Amino acid sequence: MGETLFRNVRIIDGSGEAPFAGEVLIQGNRIKAIARRPATLSAAPDVPVVDGGGATLMPGLVEPHAHPSFINTPSSPALGEVPPEEHTLLTAKFVRMLLDHGFTALHCAAAAKPRLDVVIRNAINAGDLVGPRMLAASLEMTVTSGLGDVRLNHLHRETFAVVADGPDEFRRWSRFFVREGVDVLKINPSGDEGTPGSKAHMTVMTDAEVAAVAEVARAHEKRMAAHARSAGAVKMCLRHGVDVIYHATLCDEEALDMLESRKARVFVAPTIGITYGAYKEAPLRGVNLADDVKRRFDNEFVRGIENMKALKKRGVRVLPGGDYGFAFNPMPRNARDMEHFVTLFGFTPMEAIVSATRFGGELMAKGAGPGETERTQPELGMVKEGSLADLLLVDGDPSVDVSILQDANRLLAIMKDGAFHKAPPERREARPMAAE
Ligand SMILES: [Zn+2]
Repeated sequence: MGETLFRNVRIIDGSGEAPFAGEVLIQGNRIKAIARRPATLSAAPDVPVVDGGGATLMPGLVEPHAHPSFINTPSSPALGEVPPEEHTLLTAKFVRMLLDHGFTALHCAAAAKPRLDVVIRNAINAGDLVGPRMLAASLEMTVTSGLGDVRLNHLHRETFAVVADGPDEFRRWSRFFVREGVDVLKINPSGDEGTPGSKAHMTVMTDAEVAAVAEVARAHEKRMAAHARSAGAVKMCLRHGVDVIYHATLCDEEALDMLESRKARVFVAPTIGITYGAYKEAPLRGVNLADDVKRRFDNEFVRGIENMKALKKRGVRVLPGGDYGFAFNPMPRNARDMEHFVTLFGFTPMEAIVSATRFGGELMAKGAGPGETERTQPELGMVKEGSLADLLLVDGDPSVDVSILQDANRLLAIMKDGAFHKAPPERREARPMAAE
């Protein structure tokens, strides 16, 4: 069994505790032992030793809202025009790129074609492709006129979603995705500001439609995730046991209460990155948004920030994941969401790190099925004995400045499952350790 010993590192363990100096021994694909300075670990003479030179050793990042098959498209309807062969190769390129940028696990939030996430996940697991751990998603399941229905009445156009109306159609599509091997069934119960007929504040799926998907998810032990911006959509999802709530930006008091009462099992990921990229940075791209569009985005942006601050205060797990995968909000800058958490939501850098690591690990480990309360002990997202060895060696201290995680050059080493994806430099110039 392969071993690696990290010496002379400052450890961010993902618990939220301040960094501490120490050593970490990896055996096989797990963390075998951790020692705090001045204690040292002993290892056989032939065990490779990595002298971190005072760099930070921390858990690999988890992307809770991954769209590797969105391939940085200029517009989502264009995804339907990419042939499946090219699309598969491009998805493979982007999962590798995410691993190169420190994301050792992806919780996918929707694929652009039915088998894209599934075949890429399988190829990674089989060792045929290099990429992070991955939970594969279905396409977005939406209603006629909902987010993702970009069909044209006069012309056939492939889209990046499946359009279903009525519980029977939702049930059939859910079973189809189960057959094809997804881990995550994704629904779009609310609209989105960019969707003409279905805006963000609108709840467009019916109760019976959400119930039908939940029924399939429960029967087949699949998890469900929802694009739920409106308060109505959040509440509807929670009533049916959906535990992965994306956006939640327009929550009202009742929705916040419901999220809080389920905080032991619910995960919220606001995807602030895409709102920031699409709306706040529009002028940087020379895009002038119409006044009414600006007004609606502004409302959602401000309310989203207030709601995430409120959820954090109530102890709900709020995770990063900013819908990266579009030209205006591209992969692999996914770690920028952590900076948004600090600058917009008032998280400390360490709280943002905990969200992306420990909470991310809990999300990856969540029990299968909607409303599944039996939680599996997370094996990811922390530097602790027995955890899977997904680790980053970082030049600098992200608990002081979380933005350094956006710079791949600062990632001196990337380890997934106990093996280096990026090996550390041969010799690092030792720097004096900061005072503890
Ligand atoms: Zn998304």
